[in-house]
Amino acid sequence: MNFIETRGNDGQFPLEVTFSEAILNPMSSFGGLYSPKYLPQLGADFLANHINSDYKTLAKAILNKFEVDIDEAVINQALSLYDAFDDSNNPVPVVKVYEDLYVSELFHGPTRAFKDMALQPFGTVLSAVAQARNEQFLILAATSGDTGPAALDTFRNKPNVQVVCMYPDGGTSDVQRLQMVTEDGKNLKVIGIKGDFDDAQSALKRLLTSPVFRETLSKKGIQVSAANSVNFGRIIFQTLYHVHSYLELVRQDAIKLGDKVYLNVPSGNFGNALGGYYALKMGLPVEQILIASNNNNVLTRFINEGVYDLRDSQVIPTSSPAMDILKSSNIERILFDLFGAERTKQLMLALDQDKYYRLTKEELSQVQAIFAADFCSDEEGQAYIKQAYDVGYLMDPHTATCFKVYETSRKNPTLKTIVYSTAEWTKFSPIIAKTLFGGELTADVNALKRIAEQGKVVIPPQIASLLTKPQLQDKVIAKEQIEEEIVRSL
Ligand SMILES: *Cc1c(COP(=O)(O)O)cnc(C)c1O
Repeated sequence: MNFIETRGNDGQFPLEVTFSEAILNPMSSFGGLYSPKYLPQLGADFLANHINSDYKTLAKAILNKFEVDIDEAVINQALSLYDAFDDSNNPVPVVKVYEDLYVSELFHGPTRAFKDMALQPFGTVLSAVAQARNEQFLILAATSGDTGPAALDTFRNKPNVQVVCMYPDGGTSDVQRLQMVTEDGKNLKVIGIKGDFDDAQSALKRLLTSPVFRETLSKKGIQVSAANSVNFGRIIFQTLYHVHSYLELVRQDAIKLGDKVYLNVPSGNFGNALGGYYALKMGLPVEQILIASNNNNVLTRFINEGVYDLRDSQVIPTSSPAMDILKSSNIERILFDLFGAERTKQLMLALDQDKYYRLTKEELSQVQAIFAADFCSDEEGQAYIKQAYDVGYLMDPHTATCFKVYETSRKNPTLKTIVYSTAEWTKFSPIIAKTLFGGELTADVNALKRIAEQGKVVIPPQIASLLTKPQLQDKVIAKEQIEEEIVRSL
C-alpha cells in the first residue's frame, strides 16, 4: 500500500510514496503528513481466527493487511523485540480493575512507558531500511519525557542512524531525565532546551522543513527524519494493541466476540487514539473512543465544541506531563480521513496563521460519532489514583485521567471500557507517593523507595539501575541555539 499527503500535493513532492519512503521522510507537501491511501479491512473472520493468537502472530497478521514494503525477516526481527518485555508470552497484559473497566498496560517495555510499543519495532525497521539503501539518517526527536528515552533505547548503536533528542528542561520527571542523560550510545545525543514541549516540537518541525539545515546535513552525506508520532512508522504499530486488548477481553470472558467496547485513551499528540481510530475503521467493534486530557484541554474543546483554539492558550504544567500538549499533531490525520486533503489543508493553515479553526456542524457531528472527551484536573486524578489503589491497582497520573472520562463520557454504561495505561508508576513516583501516603513531594529516588516499601511492589531493574549511572549528556541550551548545536555534534 502507498501513502498520500494530508494537505494535498504541491507538485514538488511525489503524488504517493511507499511505507519506507514515508518513514524516512515523514514531512510532505504544505507541511502535511503521510497517511495510508486507504485503510485495509480486517475482514469478517479475522477476530475469530486470531482469538488464540499470541501478540506477535496477531501483530504480523495485521501488519500484512497494510502490505508495506518491508521484508518479512525485518518485520519478524522487529516484532521479536516484544519478547524482551516483562512477559514474552503477553507483552500487553489487560487487567480488570472495576466491574466493567479493564486496563490495558502498555508500559512493560525497556523504558516503562507506552512509547516502547511503537518505537521498539520502529527502530529496527528504520535502521534496516537505511542500511538497505546504504544511506545515513539523522533522527530528530522532540520529547515531553517518554518519547526521548524510548527513541534513544531503540536506536542505541544501530547502524546508519544517529539520534538527536530534545527535551524541555524541567518539563520531565527525574526518572525520564535520567533515562536520557545517562545514555551512552555512540550515535545518540541529548539536548535540554530552555522552553516547553511545544517549543521543542516546533524546533523539530522547523528543522525538518528547513532547506538550509537539510543542505548542511546533505554535505555531510546525512538525511534527516523524525521519530515523533508524525511518523507513520510508529502509528502502524499502535493499531496492533487495540485489537489485542479487545481479544484479551474476549479471552477473559468479559465480552463476546462482536460486542462493542469503549477505548479510553490518555491523549497528547493523539498517536495512541489515532491507532484506535484506525482499528475501529478496520473493523474492530468499538462503540466510541473516549479522549482524556489534563488541564491542557484543547482536545476536549475540539471534540465537544468543534473548535481548535490556541489563541490564548499556554501550556499548563500538570502531573501528567506527557499530555501537556496544545498542538496535537495526529488530529491532522483524523481531519484528513474524515474530510479529505483540501479541507485539512484549509484547517491546518488556519491553525498556523490564526491559531484557530472551527468545524462546521456536520463535520463536528462526524467527529462526535466516533469520539467523546473530557479532561481531568490533577486533584481529580489524584482521587482516582487513590480509589484504584484501594482496590489493589497502582496506576500513574496519565492513566488516571481516563478514569474521569470513563465516569463522565460513556453514553452506554452497559459496555466494557478498555483504559490504556501509558506509563508505569515508577516514572511519576513523587506525586503518586504523596497521593497515596501523604507528606510532601520528594525526589524520585525517595518516592520510588517509599512506594516500593509501603505498596509492596518491586522497582524494576530498568529504573533501579538509573540511579547509579553517570550523567554523560546534561547539556541545556536556548532554543535559538539548537541548529548550531546539532550541526556541531555530527
Ligand atoms: C506519549 C504519552 C501520552 C500521549 O500519547 P499520544 O499518543 O501522544 O496521544 C500519554 N501518556 C504517556 C505516559 C505518554 O508517554
